[in-house]
Amino acid sequence: KTCAMLVPLLPIRFRVASQCPSFRQMSSSGCDADVIISGGGLVGMALACAMGRNPWISDKKILILERSPAPAPSPPLAEVDPVSTPYSNRVVALNPGTEKFLESINVWSKLPRWQAVHRMQVWETGSAAFINFDAGSSDKITTVVETNWLLRGMLEKAIVGTLEMDCGEDDRDDHVAWQRFQDPGPIALLPLRHGLSSLVWSTRDADRLMALTEEEFVEELNKALTRSPQWENCPPRGGSSAFRLPPTVSKVVSGSRAAYPLALTMACSYVRPRVVLVGDAAHQVHPMAGLGVNLGFGDVQALTRAVERSARLGKEIGGRNELMEYNSRRQRVNVPIMTAIDSLHRLYSTTLAPLVLLRSLGLGATDAAGPLKRLIMLQASTT
Ligand SMILES: Cc1cc2nc3c(=O)[nH]c(=O)nc-3n(C[C@H](O)[C@H](O)[C@H](O)COP(=O)(O)OP(=O)(O)OC[C@H]3O[C@@H](n4cnc5c(N)ncnc54)[C@H](O)[C@@H]3O)c2cc1C
Repeated sequence: KTCAMLVPLLPIRFRVASQCPSFRQMSSSGCDADVIISGGGLVGMALACAMGRNPWISDKKILILERSPAPAPSPPLAEVDPVSTPYSNRVVALNPGTEKFLESINVWSKLPRWQAVHRMQVWETGSAAFINFDAGSSDKITTVVETNWLLRGMLEKAIVGTLEMDCGEDDRDDHVAWQRFQDPGPIALLPLRHGLSSLVWSTRDADRLMALTEEEFVEELNKALTRSPQWENCPPRGGSSAFRLPPTVSKVVSGSRAAYPLALTMACSYVRPRVVLVGDAAHQVHPMAGLGVNLGFGDVQALTRAVERSARLGKEIGGRNELMEYNSRRQRVNVPIMTAIDSLHRLYSTTLAPLVLLRSLGLGATDAAGPLKRLIMLQASTT
């Protein structure tokens, strides 16, 4: 289940130990390895792929410990029908830097389908302010890819689901992602194909929303997406582009609605002697920025480079100095991004009038400022 996307791509020499009782038992049964990856999620699997394809490290024995059962046998990805296969209710938005990385480890070209996002509109219920990010003629902002792995944590939950959209023949929105900040939590709609989108609704009201019937849920979702701002006259509106409402949601694909717990976690250090944290094990961020797994893939690239350097120099690959370099490199990137996401999350969790005014001024001003918008897009595309 966890590895549905990456398992078929793994070179045969990786060993995935599913539901492994404990590492100690495995060691005593004679199973040894140069690198042990605890967790065969997307980041753990990508790390195995990246190391396995690196000529300096490819002779190392890599063991992946994964606690969930091995995925049921499924047809090779090349045989998956991208049109008729039902969409998974879990997707991630991957930035162009991550796409390049996944190409480099020969994963991207094997994905049966994805959807590019060319425009992203962000608005809120607190005011009439909005911001539009446009990829312009250059390329896409991000790409929506399905995933289906477990997430852990607490506090907030994210409700996910696959949505049928009422857009008739109009294909203007096929490549548009939408995100609305509102009470009780931001809603994101990520495009899958014409008339179909993936939902991520982060909320503290998940239990109530999950208990609604599908019809009631759709009604509540449409209300949340279209409800007028609390302060309709709150200036300013977005500056450089036209505001549009997303198409109406007509249906949730049956059985696709699910709730995942969310958490913000940040390890003070990613490194202990011969032990390294990558991906969500090192840092879990709120999904509203669509950056979590992109940060994880950034970790994978930095760690692979650090291990390669040790291998080239004939040093022990778990050497403290090399690992510490990985630690500082990634903390320098991850910590400011996580702090920014958390601050944004807090700012949008309040209904205090002065803060609502402040953030709507900020949103409108940012939309009007082309260079600032481009800077944000560049920063988000290279994690
Ligand atoms: C609703 C939602 C939407 C998101 N959207 C985006 C997005 O658009 N873009 C983006 O970049 N990110 C997004 N994220 C974040 C992204 O999904 C995570 O950052 C990513 O899944 C982290 O991958 P990982 O491999 O580090 O961890 P996980 O995917 O959590 O994998 C960890 C694996 O380790 C296994 N495991 C755990 N404990 C043990 C153990 N003791 N022994 C062995 N195995 C163990 C688990 O079973 C699991 O398979 C989203 C998250 C949520 C919740």
